[in-house]
Amino acid sequence: MKVGFIGLGAMGAPMAERVVKAGFQTFTTFHSRREPADALAALGAFVLGSAAEVARAADTVITILPADAELREVVFGANGLLAGLSPGKVLIDMTTATAMIMQEVESALAPVGVQVLDAPVSGGTTAAASGALTIMVGGDPALLEQCRPLLETMGSRIVHVGPVGQGKVVKIINQTMAAVHLLAIGEAFALGIRCGASPATLYSVIKESSGYSKMMDLRLPGFLLAGSFQPGFRLDLMKKDVHLALDSARALRVPLLLTATVGQVFSAASGAGKGNADFSAAAQYLASLAGVDLSQVST
Ligand code: NAD
Repeated sequence: MKVGFIGLGAMGAPMAERVVKAGFQTFTTFHSRREPADALAALGAFVLGSAAEVARAADTVITILPADAELREVVFGANGLLAGLSPGKVLIDMTTATAMIMQEVESALAPVGVQVLDAPVSGGTTAAASGALTIMVGGDPALLEQCRPLLETMGSRIVHVGPVGQGKVVKIINQTMAAVHLLAIGEAFALGIRCGASPATLYSVIKESSGYSKMMDLRLPGFLLAGSFQPGFRLDLMKKDVHLALDSARALRVPLLLTATVGQVFSAASGAGKGNADFSAAAQYLASLAGVDLSQVST
């Protein structure tokens, strides 16, 4: 299987590296920065001039882009994938985006004889580097089995969740909960610290108590307690995910009372210049409204 890989960002670069190292002949292209493509080429990948050329060279093309607009551009834009795809090829999109764009892409590619898998991921950059991602797959189960050896180079948990679009749905629900859990930590820790508790004590006790969430392990050490916000997962991408949930809830008339407030905090933190920081900066931003710096008091 010849693989095309488009979107060499914080997630895509380590994922593509694993694909190349697993021995798949891999083709890529670049967008704003050439360096990640050159780094992949140093491992044996081929760098081509456009998405269309990648689609012509590969049997299976993987995309992992910021969101709907970029996916639309890469598929339908000038020299996009649509111009190079032909019958029997496969597109696996791993972007966190809407179910609607996935269905739009599937409807446009089906008449060309191209099958689509909707396969967003969770686990972050560390799991991307170690091949330990969870991959939530929407699409034909037989196509998933055909692509499983490729997906297994990137993920240790590959779960079929329904037709194309359902991968995006499951991913957005995870993101909604992750964002709420993160801000719950920022807000509650700010109160605890203002009451005289040490964050280290709060973490070690709550880790074994009912207030625990995995977000504590993911974003207290190394980020909030260290005062270090190198992404990781950019705050503007989490803002995008929360607003995807809010848009879909508005359309379906589902109340998202907590998530609406969380969305406002992410918007405010982004407006305050934190958009390119790790998303955990939103919890520090919230704590700062109480005058608390979670890293200052952690030592
Ligand atoms: P990123 O911003 O680091 O990378 C995006 C990549 O897409 C960049 O290399 C950029 O150059 C490329 N790109 C943008 N527009 C393009 C275009 N028109 N044509 C070609 N390439 C284009 O983002 P990321 O953190 O790698 O996230 C990618 C996706 O994975 C997002 O949907 C995100 O929500 C999701 N995700 C991220 C994480 C994480 O921890 N970072 C975890 C799970 C899921």
